[in-house]
Order: sequence, then C-alpha cells, then structure tokens
Amino acid sequence: AEFAALDSQVDGTAEDEEALLAQPVLAVVGRPNVGKSTLVNRILGRREAVVQDVPGVTRDRVAYDALWNGRRFTVVDTGGWEPGASGMQGAIAAQAEMAMATADAVLLVVDASVGATTTDEAVAKVLRRSKRPVLLAANKVDDNRLMPDVASLWSLGLGEPMPVSALHGRSSGDLLDAIVKALPEAPRDGERTAGPRRVALVGKPNVGKSSLLNKLTGEERSVVDSVAGTTVDPVDSLVELDGQTWRFVDTAGLRKRVHTASGTEYYASLRTKAAIDAAEVVIVLLDASEPLSEQDLRVLTMVVEAGRACVLAFNKWDLVDEDRRHQLEKELDRGLVRVPWAQRVNISALTGRSVRKLAPALRTALESWDRRVSTGQLNSWLSELIAATPPPVRGGKQPKVLFATQAGIRPPTLVLFTTGFLEASYRRFIERKFRERFGFEGSPVRINVRVRE
Ligand code: GDP
Ligand code: GDP
Repeated sequence: AEFAALDSQVDGTAEDEEALLAQPVLAVVGRPNVGKSTLVNRILGRREAVVQDVPGVTRDRVAYDALWNGRRFTVVDTGGWEPGASGMQGAIAAQAEMAMATADAVLLVVDASVGATTTDEAVAKVLRRSKRPVLLAANKVDDNRLMPDVASLWSLGLGEPMPVSALHGRSSGDLLDAIVKALPEAPRDGERTAGPRRVALVGKPNVGKSSLLNKLTGEERSVVDSVAGTTVDPVDSLVELDGQTWRFVDTAGLRKRVHTASGTEYYASLRTKAAIDAAEVVIVLLDASEPLSEQDLRVLTMVVEAGRACVLAFNKWDLVDEDRRHQLEKELDRGLVRVPWAQRVNISALTGRSVRKLAPALRTALESWDRRVSTGQLNSWLSELIAATPPPVRGGKQPKVLFATQAGIRPPTLVLFTTGFLEASYRRFIERKFRERFGFEGSPVRINVRVRE
C-alpha cells in the first residue's frame, strides 16, 4: 500500500501548525519478541508504566511521553496497531508504513542474538524509502560476545546498528542521544514571560468595562500604577485581586472613556482583538439586563479563535429580576453553545456584587489553559472511548484512531493520529468526553487530526 504524507486536517492556522510541532513522535517497530516493549520502558525511564497503566485495559495503541536531556517526545509502540495485511511479514511491513506516515522518526528494533531475519529485511526495505530518519537498534546485546552479530546488521541498509540491551540498560543513553538528535527540534512550550498574568477586559460599548476596572482598582488609584506599553498608546494596569497581581492589558482606552462618535465600532473591534491577543485570559463582560447581541457573540468568537482562557462576567446583575433571570437562562442555552466550558460569574460593577469571584475564576481558567495530560493517560482513556464508540464509517471505511498526544498548551491542543478523516461531530464528541474526563474548565481545547490517507 502507498501512503500519503502527513496531512493536518482543519483549523490550519499558523498557531496550530506550531502546536502540531510541539512534541515530536518516535515510532518503534519490529517483530514480536525482539524487545520493543522492554526498550520503550527503558526509553521512558519508567516515568510512565507501559503495562500497568490502567488495570483491565489491554496494552494496545500505547503512546507515552519521554524526556531526555530536556527534550520531550512521544514514543509509540506500534505493536498494538492491527494492520490489514495478512501474515507476519505483511503485518509488520504495514506497521512500518504507518509508522513512517505518522511519526517524525522511526526506530527499528532487531534481535541481535537472532540476526536479521527475512521479516527484518522486508521491514528494512520499506523503511529505506522513509523520508524521515530511521534508527536501527540491535537489541539483546547483553555482552560483547554479540558485537560481530551487531556488525552484520549493516546489511539491512539502515546505517549503523546501535547495540543495546533493553533488559540491562546497556547503551540506552547512547540510543536516546541518537533518537533526540534525529527528532526535529520542538519549540519549548510557552515559557511565559515573567510577571503578572495578563488579563483582557472586553465587551461591547456600555457594558460596564470602565466601571468594572474602576471598581477593581479603586476610583482614586489612577494611572500611577500603569505600565507603559511598547507601542504608542496601549497602556496596561496592574491590578491587585485576591492577593495576586494581574496585568490588565490595554486599559488606557477604558480609563479615558474614549467613547466617541460614529465609525468607532470598527476601531473598537480592532482594539478588542489586540487586547485579546495580548492577554492570556479574557474577561468577557456581558450585559445581563439585555439580550445577548451579535456583538457579544463576535467577541466570544474572537476569544475562542485566539485560543485564550475565558471567564464570562454577567454585569449589571443589580438590574436582573426573577423574570429576566429565567429569560436569560434560555438565551444562554442557545447563545453560549461555543463556550459551554466557560465559567459564569454574575456581578455588578455598580454595587460591587460578586466582583471578588472574578479572581478565582481567572485562576481556574488559567490552570486549565496551562494544563497538560500525559500521553499515557490520554491514550488509555481514548482507546476505551473509541472501543465503545468508534468513529462513524465514511466512504465505506472505518477510520481508525491510532493514538493521540497533547501537543501543546495555551491553549491545550490535542493531536489525533488517524487513518481517515474524522467528522466534525465526532471531534466534538471527543472534546465533550475529554472534558467530562479531564475537566479543562475555562479554557478552549483544540482537537487537530493528522490523517494518514
Ligand atoms: P516485544 O514483543 O518486541 O515488545 O518484546 P518484549 O519487550 O516483550 O520482550 C520479549 C522478550 O525479550 C522478553 O522476555 C524480554 O525480557 C526479552 N528481552 C528484551 N530485551 C532484552 C535484552 O536486551 N536482552 C535479553 N537477554 N532479553 C531481552
Ligand atoms: P463601557 O463602555 O463598557 O466602559 O461601560 P461603562 O463602564 O462606561 O458603563 C456604561 C454605563 O453602564 C454607565 O452609565 C455605568 O454607570 C453603567 N453600569 C456599569 N456597570 C453597571 C452595573 O453593574 N449596574 C448598573 N445598573 N449599571 C452599570
């Protein structure tokens, strides 16, 4: 079978591309019993137990996080993939094809005490076509007597065979060095710039942004505690909330109350966009006394698309009576379908009601935004979910999800490696279940799919 190169499905923005690169993948292939699992354990340094992950869950589609010399990568043991081909040789060749199509580098494991078998040769032939780096591990070299047998593995045409003993750990450091060298450099994720966390306060005109900012800072405290921005006008404010200092971005406009005449809506929306981009977490202020408007939804869409953590603050709660509250609930069911995960806080900038609830909500949202689920945890959850509810058949084919990793944080981004396109509804289903299992309240979660066609 011929396989197309990696393809990323949907949401192909530059930021996603970066997230996709965040953690490179190493696929481990080889015949049964050559010591793949033992070697994977060795590579992981037993940071994640391969076998005893979740009792009762079969050891298939295993993918785990590895860390060596400060470099993170995902290790996939391809043993659990069920390639269609019949016979051992065909099955392992197909496995190698899949590995080449999904991983950034492939490690072929051969049993040096047995030497190259015809199956090993067939796999090597497939791997020699790989556009990605292929490493050759000669396993079970428990002592030097096997070194001549190791040398004979040059015949596989995959370069220098690296002698290792997965069982005793011999040379595993050298192997890891070589693996890390072969993998593409991953951008380290979001070492944040130091200092207070950055908050944007956004919402349509007259929703109460400047009133809230004044409430939070105290009317008298003025621009003294503002921080000059790098560009001409944006000025941030440092605000103390609940014992923590926050940096409210681009608040100059809010303070000056520059609500001028017509033509400003476009300007306001650019300004909102800039504030959202500059922030890590966004307080979207909504007017609880009025129906949700198009403008509100546009702001919410901007936040989701920018991938920022978010808190919904329903302001002017002092104007909300029983009737309005019921009506609002109905509006929100429909209006907030894009952000069911966002926390809601009902406040009044005028009276100060519940304003102190904002800080804990911001903290929760940021914790979710910063959070990473380990590849092992993710895959044991995912393989159960998919076994129970497989992706819908498409064009007569059942797409298979091989494994997943959380490729990035800020926002949390999952990458699913599949053998076919996943419908948007199925991706939403996965997101819903993911949130049921792992939470992530207050943060958007992105789900990208890498298809091996
Ligand atoms: P897999 O089927 O390729 O995943 O192989 P396993 O990791 O399950 O190992 C198969 C057998 O080989 C097990 O009994 C291991 O203990 C043994 N084994 C793995 N690595 C080594 C090694 O470096 N030296 C020796 N002597 N035995 C090994
Ligand atoms: P901005 O345009 O979003 O900065 O909104 P402002 O802070 O200028 O507020 C617009 C109007 O709403 C002003 O008249 C405020 O006094 C009023 N307002 C703001 N917050 C509240 C609130 O919680 N309750 C009530 N009743 N009025 C509010």
